[in-house]
Amino acid sequence: MLQLTKLKKTSDLDLSMWWSDGVQTTISIKRLRDECPCAGCKGESVLFESYAPVKLPIARPGMYDLKKIDVIGNYAIQPLWGDGHNTGLYGWDYLRQISTPVEDVSASR
Ligand SMILES: [Zn+2]
Repeated sequence: MLQLTKLKKTSDLDLSMWWSDGVQTTISIKRLRDECPCAGCKGESVLFESYAPVKLPIARPGMYDLKKIDVIGNYAIQPLWGDGHNTGLYGWDYLRQISTPVEDVSASR
């Protein structure tokens, strides 16, 4: 089973993640927030009907300001954002999906 082994803020803009299968991925903090999987951000799917919330045209102050990240059990992270939002639970599979694999330059010939 895929596990996140290490999570590190590599700059003010990016996070790096290391996975149990040896892959390293990266994600921008902005994208992490944009992909927030909670019902308020992504909408809820009820049977075959899905409800998509209207995106606010103006970013709320602090919404891309990553305050901290809690690890929930051994299956997800829960970030706290500058605007107080913290209902997004990012499971490992989802996190892996929305992040980008980093080419390991030292491993190439
Ligand atoms: Zn959300």
